Amino acid sequence: MFNSLSDRLALTFKNLKRKGTVTESDLNATIRDIRMALLDADVALPVVKEFTGAVRERGLGAEVHQALNPAQQIVKIVNEELVSILGGQTRRITLAKTPPTVIMLAGLQGSGKTTFAGKLGRWLADQGHTPLLVAADLQRPNAVTQLEVVGQRAGVAVFAPERGNVFGHDAALESGEGTRSFGDPVDVAVDGVEDARRKGHDVVIIDTAGRLAVDVNLMRQAHDIRLETNAHEVLFVIDAMIGQAAVETAKAFADGVGITGSVLTKLDGDARGGAALSVATVTGQPIMFASTGEGVKDIELFHPDRMASRILDMGDVLTLIEQAEKAFDRVQAQEMTRKFLSEEDFTFDDFLEQMSAIKRMGSLKQMLGMMPGMQQMRAQLDSLDEKEFDRVEAMVRSMTPFERNHPKQINGSRRARIARGSGVSVSEVNQLLERFAEAQKMMRQLKKGGMPGMPGMPGM
Ligand code: GDP
Repeated sequence: MFNSLSDRLALTFKNLKRKGTVTESDLNATIRDIRMALLDADVALPVVKEFTGAVRERGLGAEVHQALNPAQQIVKIVNEELVSILGGQTRRITLAKTPPTVIMLAGLQGSGKTTFAGKLGRWLADQGHTPLLVAADLQRPNAVTQLEVVGQRAGVAVFAPERGNVFGHDAALESGEGTRSFGDPVDVAVDGVEDARRKGHDVVIIDTAGRLAVDVNLMRQAHDIRLETNAHEVLFVIDAMIGQAAVETAKAFADGVGITGSVLTKLDGDARGGAALSVATVTGQPIMFASTGEGVKDIELFHPDRMASRILDMGDVLTLIEQAEKAFDRVQAQEMTRKFLSEEDFTFDDFLEQMSAIKRMGSLKQMLGMMPGMQQMRAQLDSLDEKEFDRVEAMVRSMTPFERNHPKQINGSRRARIARGSGVSVSEVNQLLERFAEAQKMMRQLKKGGMPGMPGMPGM
């Protein structure tokens, strides 16, 4: 995501930074580059115009002329304007004073609504809420079942309309006529909210029908569901991969249904970023969540400032920290800190714990991609073999507890046994032990103080 945009902007700024002072023509050239980069990233033209207009105006203003380092000032302005077109501040779900809070999801078919419903449910449940998913997508024949499966996977309750209401007479189905008498999605949504109230769920997430393209009936239906359920939040779910077309769809939903925020899905793909950069400006509502994979945990609050610095490759340290916090449980983190500060040696057991923590954080590549400077190393990242990780883990798991805590005692016959147990060659085991000894040495030096580096990065 945003890779080529990041590269282009990095190049633009590199050229700019070479100059001691920035003249008006330098600024114009930079803005031209940015404009091309944004258009190539499939950002909507009005958004590009607004963006470059703002950068030019601020760039020509006092800010740059008074600056000690004009190039940096321009990067700063671009960053701030990026934050602004991404929606400014992070916006969280507003909970209703009297529960249940009703959150409705709307968007085109395939945008990721149903998947997101499960994620949002899990996310809210993790924060102590008791969400209910409501299957009001009666358009796609198996959408109700899909939501039930998603709910089950996420461990979140689902309100589904009576089968009979949805699929009509079984006889009709069996006869293969495929004539289905659908229930009314608006009724189902209202019943769902009523059910939540009765059973004490404090948040309701309504999954609604999408179509392949915007159409009037779809809009009316979504609009009615919104009105009849008094939805507090209407989240427009948009596939980040769809580029320019996103703009019209977003506008249609904003105008026709009335939305309170957007959800960007499939941010894990290699989309150019046009939808992401356009949707907040076009709809006038912030992006609230990002969906970054098919798993139930692949959901993040959307932070415009962090996304902007990720695009400008300033790294996304805050997101990293947040994910790390999620993955390490507190006790374990305290234990690691204690160990780090004590005289005890770093052992293979510690190493294994760190590996599984990293795994819980998501893919290694995804993690590394968020670290500052890593955008430049994309080629190496792409060739990174996650299987290597598995092999190392297999070797460590083949060690006895004694061996894990006393790596120096692992002699030839033990090495051969570990190799057999983990299905690797003895030389791989040798290599691991060598690297581990180096890492241990480094850790000792680190503990003595002062050597810069990152404690706790496996892979060494
Ligand atoms: P709906 O028609 O809007 O309900 O869309 P679905 O939830 O059925 O999603 C459509 C497809 O996109 C499914 O194959 C999902 O697994 C996939 N999908 C949804 N969200 C994401 C995401 O964030 N990343 C990726 N890679 N795939 C996603």
